[in-house]
Amino acid sequence: MMDIVLHVADTYLFTPYIYPAEWAEDWWPRQLLSLFFLVNISGYALYLIFATLSYIFIYDKALLRHPRILENQIAKELWVACTSIPIMSIPTNLIFLAEVRGYSKLYDNVDEYGWGYLAFSAVFFLFFTDMCIYWIHRWLHHPLIYKYVHKPHHRWLVPTPFASHAFHPVDGFLQSSPYHMFIFLFPLHKMAYMGLFVFVNFWTISIHDGSYGVPDVFKPLVNGAAHHTDHHLFFNYNYGQFFTLWDRIGGSFRHPSSFEGTSPLDEVHQLDKKAAAAAAAVTTAVTTAGDKQPAASPSASAAGGEATSPSARARSKKVD
Ligand SMILES: [Zn+2]
Ligand SMILES: [Zn+2]
Repeated sequence: MMDIVLHVADTYLFTPYIYPAEWAEDWWPRQLLSLFFLVNISGYALYLIFATLSYIFIYDKALLRHPRILENQIAKELWVACTSIPIMSIPTNLIFLAEVRGYSKLYDNVDEYGWGYLAFSAVFFLFFTDMCIYWIHRWLHHPLIYKYVHKPHHRWLVPTPFASHAFHPVDGFLQSSPYHMFIFLFPLHKMAYMGLFVFVNFWTISIHDGSYGVPDVFKPLVNGAAHHTDHHLFFNYNYGQFFTLWDRIGGSFRHPSSFEGTSPLDEVHQLDKKAAAAAAAVTTAVTTAGDKQPAASPSASAAGGEATSPSARARSKKVD
């Protein structure tokens, strides 16, 4: 796959404009340098474009009012992701170099294995990598490893789409390694690999977008945002990437809270309702008390404990 990308970049950019003429196109240091450039550009582009689109069109901004959202969380997520991508790309580039130099089982011609195999290999790719990611991810939660590698990704208890690539570089590389492993083990058509590569980036964003809806038929099978939201909240459940299969086999499946009406978004709506009720109670108390009881403290009204917390007060201000 990367040989095609590299060829296009060589033809239209690197050879005519960038590299000295004596650097042959198949000289491996030049290939590695080109890959570093291309992988970073495409990594940033996939992340920033898809995460921004998801944030604008899919993510419910009410989630930003959840009490467990960090201050400036999006800026923090962006910082972690953008500083990790170039470091993550170093081992990734070495694997792409091996691929470009012909060591993988990627193939060009559909006739080599036929259309049936092509369709099967795309589905098998998802199942195989889902299995590997499940076990890698579960291992990353081992107490001896967790705090060094995986903890940064769990700073986001209620993630936004920008959390999708916000990993420690080692974590990000390990969790993407099954995609690279696959093409050295099983034949896969280059175009299918390119499509799948874009899809897995897209999927990683989609499980962080807080949009829990999936068609009913897929609900028991597909590991979506509903499941991954609970992974961020409750840690030792729903480690899967695409399917719930391995969580069921491994005994780590947790029925998503959003299917029960207790998702973080439901919590925000609940808190909004409480804050609105508290604000209404204060208004009623003030109006009925008239000017006989000046400077009555709002928190002393019958609003309940929740309304006295600073976050609830901030929320009730916004509701007003
Ligand atoms: Zn995790
Ligand atoms: Zn996550």
